Amino acid sequence: MVEPIVQFKDVHKSFGEFDVLKGIDLNIAPSEKICIIGPSGSGKTTIIRMLMTLEEPTSGDIYVNDANLWKMERAGKMVPANEKHLRQVRGDIGMVFQHFNLFPHMTILDNCMVGPIHVKKESKDEAKQHSEEMLKRVGLEEHMDKYPSQLSGGQKQRVAMARALVMKPKIMLFDEVTSALDPELVGEVLEVIRNIAETGETAMVLVTHEMDFALEVADRVLFLDDGVIAESGTASEVIEHSENKRLQSFLRRFR
Ligand code: ADP
Repeated sequence: MVEPIVQFKDVHKSFGEFDVLKGIDLNIAPSEKICIIGPSGSGKTTIIRMLMTLEEPTSGDIYVNDANLWKMERAGKMVPANEKHLRQVRGDIGMVFQHFNLFPHMTILDNCMVGPIHVKKESKDEAKQHSEEMLKRVGLEEHMDKYPSQLSGGQKQRVAMARALVMKPKIMLFDEVTSALDPELVGEVLEVIRNIAETGETAMVLVTHEMDFALEVADRVLFLDDGVIAESGTASEVIEHSENKRLQSFLRRFR
């Protein structure tokens, strides 16, 4: 069995009185592609934020490379178990959001170079070379000197992917990256994700409503419902053959 790079063990998360996650167990293997589906408010983004280390669990354990990220202080509050490890983990995670989050005052090329220069401490020349390679890979070599406002939504999302990939992440997180796009721009963004999935260069966790895409790329699909992983299996098992009534009713909205 391949060693997982991430393990959630009985992870709970509450905001005040509100229990969002009620015991999540999840292993992510290197190069594994996992899609998380589920109704709005079921806690999908909360799981992504925990994977990004932006949110600590209320209880339970999150291991990355066998080291626990958080520990409980006496007052019951979770704090980083090891700040250095947490920073390392952050460096291994690439993230693409629904709303691109590009720096509007910087060119496309400069947007990509920020991480390599400031986080990876690459020289300007190295960062430029790596960023140009990535922008070429996502088909934007013609647009490197433009500003985000000059690009379409699909192009902006491809920049966001190049910017994440240039950091050579071990895990890429995609949170509804096509939801804000006009339908005709969805395809070009999925094509880049498909390409990343095919290389196996990184593990991928995708929150998505694109069920056909999940069927095509996911090794595993998780249906999150009411704070638990209510169904888990291959994409075909979960999306096409599950007998779970709540899942079936959720899926009817996308068919
Ligand atoms: P999903 O991504 O499945 O739509 P989320 O993880 O965004 O769900 O949110 C799950 C629930 O947790 C929602 O009801 C949301 O309002 C609540 N929630 C998320 N973050 C916070 C927060 N920082 N404070 C209070 N409630 C939150």
